[in-house]
Amino acid sequence: MATLGNTRNTAEIIGKYQFHFQKKYGQNFLIDSNILDKIIESAQLTKDDCVLEIGPGIGTMTQYLAEQAGEVVAVEIDKNLIPILEDTLSDYSNVTILNEDILKVDISKIVEERNGGKPIKVVANLPYYITTPIIMALFESHVPLLSVTIMVQKEMADRMQVGPGTKDYGALSLAVQYYAKPEIITRVPASCFMPKPNVDSTVIRLTRYEKPPVEVEDEAYLFAVIRASFNQRRKTLANGLANAGNLGVNRQVVEETLDEMGLSRQIRGETLDLKQFTDLSNRLGRKKL
Ligand code: SAM
Repeated sequence: MATLGNTRNTAEIIGKYQFHFQKKYGQNFLIDSNILDKIIESAQLTKDDCVLEIGPGIGTMTQYLAEQAGEVVAVEIDKNLIPILEDTLSDYSNVTILNEDILKVDISKIVEERNGGKPIKVVANLPYYITTPIIMALFESHVPLLSVTIMVQKEMADRMQVGPGTKDYGALSLAVQYYAKPEIITRVPASCFMPKPNVDSTVIRLTRYEKPPVEVEDEAYLFAVIRASFNQRRKTLANGLANAGNLGVNRQVVEETLDEMGLSRQIRGETLDLKQFTDLSNRLGRKKL
């Protein structure tokens, strides 16, 4: 089977199988071997690694992954791609293809079955319409992970790595930075895909922390506080938290806590960093009803 990752061989496969791209699945296939090399290099794979690929498409990156990793599990939602993958990956005995929706499969179970519960690496050119739910599913459900190397829409990568005081800063930034160290690997122009998307892309690597960088007393409560703080961006933090309804604290408790922390009662959520959110949620958590 010819190596994919270029326009000619991709077009040939698409033609051979009369494949119709489905916009609803975010199907933009990589046709640039330099970018593929960069993704694979930054994922730092060895033959000891088990890789989960989300959305293999016609198997372009899967071929590269199968060369470098010990085992690859590729989860693809579109059943029309399965016969194509069986063809393009026929030379590799270390690839398992699952025709599933990544948001519905039990990823921890896959890790248990395929890698004896040892942490895996995730490498993917993600379907952009579900970037945030995929990342949250990987981190919040505590899938054993070493790193997540992914192609995402440029703006999403920016959101994952910025700090307080910028317009991109929000719940996603805090969630990612609680679980992992984000590093931008490379920007990717739309011309590297077939069909061309109308956004620019970025490859970002998230290296999972063994232990979060802050001491949190109740992780679920921290994320409830963060979500409530960003739900009403134009309101003050005190308003957002007091109106949330699921935090068990009233306005008076919130204001007293902000006073204790030396923060203004008028402060907005987007000015707090992860350490301050942790301090706030630990204090509120001890006072909640
Ligand atoms: N990895 C291929 C490449 O780089 O050329 C294709 C990447 S394409 C951006 C995203 C892929 O994710 C498509 O193949 C699409 O069908 C698949 N996909 C979309 N939603 C999915 C889901 N919920 N679960 C699993 N795969 C999904």
